[in-house]
Amino acid sequence: MIIASNLKTNLTREKTISYLMDVENFLDKNNSDQEIYVFPAQSSLNPHHGKVVQGAQNAYATQNGAFTGEIGLEQLEEFDVKTILIGHSERRHILGESQEKLVEKFNFYKSHGFKIVYCVGEPLEVREQGEDVMMKYLELQYEGIDTSYDKLIIAYEPVWAIGTGLTPTLEDISKIHLKLKEKSSAPLLYGGSVKVETARDILACDGVDGVLVGSGALKVENFCQMIKFAEELNNN
Ligand code: PEP
Repeated sequence: MIIASNLKTNLTREKTISYLMDVENFLDKNNSDQEIYVFPAQSSLNPHHGKVVQGAQNAYATQNGAFTGEIGLEQLEEFDVKTILIGHSERRHILGESQEKLVEKFNFYKSHGFKIVYCVGEPLEVREQGEDVMMKYLELQYEGIDTSYDKLIIAYEPVWAIGTGLTPTLEDISKIHLKLKEKSSAPLLYGGSVKVETARDILACDGVDGVLVGSGALKVENFCQMIKFAEELNNN
């Protein structure tokens, strides 16, 4: 299974290094072979070699250049980062990234062989309009994306569930995941207020290949506990 932690704008570089080391130690001790990703804040990136894959939360679709406040391929290469999160709802809805820009970013990092965790998800007002409207909305987020890219992971993250403590029912998660799986055979993660208390049941849902976790993974022991759940479920 895939267990990923999005640290967002949290943890200093020192704390991130210690977070990564704690996860590595946990994986070694438990002989775990789950696929683990950690996405630190940009200024906390550091070369990391181990079982945990370090990814970037964002980067501009460029090698380098005049894009104030952004980082590009050159800065990621300095830290051996070959994985990137694209389409996170905070980038779509707070930072205003359009589908067109996301496709540009996707194609650029795909052309450089990056593993891409591509996020999709609907806001509450869309969900409230029923399943058809919701699926059409989600479909638009697949537009222009190469869904057969072999280094693609998709994360379904309902916008209304991110950082709110709300989650869809387990039945809804399964239902939506199974529908989204018809669009791509890429592994499909669920994200949105996953907590230690809910992770096991979510990981056990039909159609769920893993989780992408924000606040619920900020404490490393909680993140490791989620990895443990994945391990147990895999062994069942
Ligand atoms: C996320 O940032 O991808 C996320 C799912 O956040 P949270 O777990 O805090 O809802």
